Amino acid sequence: MRCPFCQQSENRVVDSRLAREGRAIRRRRQCEACSGRFTTYEVVEETMIDVEKRDGQSEPFDPEKLLRSIRLACKKRPIGTAALSDFVDRLESKLATRPKRVVSSKELGDAVMVFLRDLDPVAYVRYASVYRSFASVDAFMRELATFSARPSGEPSEGSEGGDGER
Ligand SMILES: [Zn+2]
Repeated sequence: MRCPFCQQSENRVVDSRLAREGRAIRRRRQCEACSGRFTTYEVVEETMIDVEKRDGQSEPFDPEKLLRSIRLACKKRPIGTAALSDFVDRLESKLATRPKRVVSSKELGDAVMVFLRDLDPVAYVRYASVYRSFASVDAFMRELATFSARPSGEPSEGSEGGDGER
């Protein structure tokens, strides 16, 4: 691993600890040449899953990013962080079994909404308001009504990329 300051590759680990709920090892390193300190992460290599965004672009699925957005919605709510990372882990495992390894951003958002709806109403409303960016209170209330009417665990209607699902 090259030093980001002087590009020398000789360095030593000064600290090593678990990070990201035990899914990564964080290492603090010190360059032998310039004594500059930097951090590296070791993670299990995951099979890439592509997220198709609304604008037609796609990007690699980033479980950390998804987890961050859910955590934000759950801020100061009585929800254990383990429940959230478990959800993202389960979702990721499910997506990895798809033959095409593609998911639409809408499908991801819907999955989070269904999860939060059953978990915590406040977190659900927070996530929904950011994710859907409703044009009006009326639009939001209509959406809320359709979601509440749906039995829990049932996939949302109109989800994209249905082929290859289980
Ligand atoms: Zn250096």
